[in-house]
Amino acid sequence: MIEPKNLFREILEKVKIYLPDQDPKILQKAYRYSQEAHQKQQRAGGEPYIIHPLHVAKTLCDLQMDLPTLSAALLHDVLEDTATSRETLKSEFGEEITSLVEGVTKIDSLEHFALNPENVSFLSSAPEIVKQAEYWRKMLVASAEDIRVIVLKLADRKHNMETLEFLRPEKRTRIAEETISLYAPLAQRLGMYQLKSTLEDLSLEYLEPEKFQTLQNKINALEVGKEEFLKKCVEKIKEVLKNSSIPCRMSARPKNIYSIYRKMIRQDKPFEEIQDRIGIRLITDTVEHCYALLSLIHSNFAPLENTFTDYIATPKNNLYQSLHTTVSTSPAEIFEIQIRTEEMHHTCEYGIAAHWRYKQGAARAKSGAPKEDPFERKLDWIKHILEWQQDTGNPEEFLEGLKTELAFDQVFVFTPKGEVKKLPLGSCPIDFAYSVHTELGNQCIGAKVNGKMVKLETQLKSGEQCEIMTRKNQKPHKDWLEFIKTPRARSKIRKFFREHPEK
Ligand code: MN
Repeated sequence: MIEPKNLFREILEKVKIYLPDQDPKILQKAYRYSQEAHQKQQRAGGEPYIIHPLHVAKTLCDLQMDLPTLSAALLHDVLEDTATSRETLKSEFGEEITSLVEGVTKIDSLEHFALNPENVSFLSSAPEIVKQAEYWRKMLVASAEDIRVIVLKLADRKHNMETLEFLRPEKRTRIAEETISLYAPLAQRLGMYQLKSTLEDLSLEYLEPEKFQTLQNKINALEVGKEEFLKKCVEKIKEVLKNSSIPCRMSARPKNIYSIYRKMIRQDKPFEEIQDRIGIRLITDTVEHCYALLSLIHSNFAPLENTFTDYIATPKNNLYQSLHTTVSTSPAEIFEIQIRTEEMHHTCEYGIAAHWRYKQGAARAKSGAPKEDPFERKLDWIKHILEWQQDTGNPEEFLEGLKTELAFDQVFVFTPKGEVKKLPLGSCPIDFAYSVHTELGNQCIGAKVNGKMVKLETQLKSGEQCEIMTRKNQKPHKDWLEFIKTPRARSKIRKFFREHPEK
């Protein structure tokens, strides 16, 4: 077992490297305070409780988060699990750290909540679901104010997943399910791919232990050096790049266990037949060189049909940028290649945390005009979720809607004016209409896709252009609820029927 003080020293040493001119005394104070407050508690595995907040702080330190976040990590369970009050915490550590802690603190009582007559429909659901829904709502409200709340919560969940073995089996399953359906997609939404993969693999280990083990063994056998195939692919690419002057470094690795597992289910194929189990990355210096590398690859290896995606021209919602293509060097050798710049690579690995580092750097440099912050804009989805959830009185529906909203498989659909709308996979023209404007949805009578009339339940595909036909005084149809995909459309249609009850 690691001694708490050694773990804390490790954190402190790292912080001194990435925040050389900041005084870490607040961190020392938080550590002492938390240790004192949790003194009588133990984790389910029998370790002193302080080990948990230390591990959470360590994860955040690896992501190079700022001192208030690290301090809040050390204190994150004191409001929930000890006698410490909000007022005490605030007078000791100030408002910033206290709000961060409060954002991740679970709601212990639903009493005040149940008193609100607007929440009546919530009460028909199981208390666990109500609590879960209410907790997520509260956390999202806090995160819309300060996104560090979510980053903190994700780090907390990571350590809870790492120590899940000590809990009762039913509890393990429930937590693993919540992790894979909500926390992992959330990490992905924030561009934190490493954390996302860790959360997914840890969940799968508990949800499908046997399958997980089999897959892990097979993937371990694929590691570089062990498998001829991987070496051969890398060699072939090196050969092609040898005569070019483009600077480039390459890495090759098997994909994370859960993403392979999901592909096996989706494509209904055994592990051996999953084509791109291996991802090869080419990292270069400029965007021009990304495209130059791509054309070099495509002129030497046959690209597979429909596998090229340009996430540089159209970044994902979480700012992920890369060129993706799947090529084959022979019918039996197929692999996915991702091409990106060093800067994109950084954002891909750390996501929102990279943004925090950038902010720290900017604050240190005290440069004049602040650059436009692309992350701030990209966090609008949190506000959108909070918007539609106000129209949803039902906790199951809220949690389901949240899962859909966070699920990352998206399609890009164009408006007649050429504007891009990003919608979840499986969305139909009604979803599209409501994503443009509520009235466009309410008055929809038909739709054209790429100029041709289609049924309203048609699933839209990336790159299609969608045009909505409307008629004044037209009303939404109840049966739309059967096939629409987005929570936004659902809540708007429901709202319409609440405001216009049928006679
Ligand atoms: Mn915790």
